[in-house]
Amino acid sequence: MNPKSLKLSTYISEETLQKKVSEIGKILTEKFKGKKVTAICVLKGSFMFYSDLIRQIDTDITCEFFGVSSYNGGTSSSGEVKVTLDLSSAIEGQHVILVEDIVDTGLTMNYLKKSIESRNPASLTTVTLLEKPEALKVPCKLDHVGFKITNEFVVGYGLDYQGYYRNLPYIAQVQNFQ
Ligand code: 5GP
Repeated sequence: MNPKSLKLSTYISEETLQKKVSEIGKILTEKFKGKKVTAICVLKGSFMFYSDLIRQIDTDITCEFFGVSSYNGGTSSSGEVKVTLDLSSAIEGQHVILVEDIVDTGLTMNYLKKSIESRNPASLTTVTLLEKPEALKVPCKLDHVGFKITNEFVVGYGLDYQGYYRNLPYIAQVQNFQ
């Protein structure tokens, strides 16, 4: 389907997203008060959530970027996680916050957790903006979840369809997928 012919409807408004980001930011500020943190942005989908979230965490933060791809631009996970960009520095002994956009089958998050834990951080805290509990294929323990949603494809606020729609400031559902 032509990516630009999707019919979208607002699913989570900009205001509701920002309220949730601020709530999670407050919780993480409490948790990491006085500690140094490395916040990892999972590219590409979480860049918008990540940049809003780290501005709400009031402690010393360094930023890292981890590029992975499992959707190949379509609407279902390929199940195979491909690393497109690895972390640029060691995270051994550091308090790590891993920031994901959405947990669908759970395969990507499990892959990321294993990869980060193998580098011996002092602690690992997982955050995802969205989770689709009905779509999980593997058990996936998450520390902070913004919204649990139904098993439908969403775009916006960093999430794409064939590369488009990441710049929407809200999360939208697609009305016209067959
Ligand atoms: P998982 O490995 O949990 O199946 O998939 C995680 C990745 O798939 C996410 O980081 C995201 O890039 C993509 N994904 C999963 N569900 C959706 C969705 O509803 N919309 C979009 N745009 N991407 C999704």
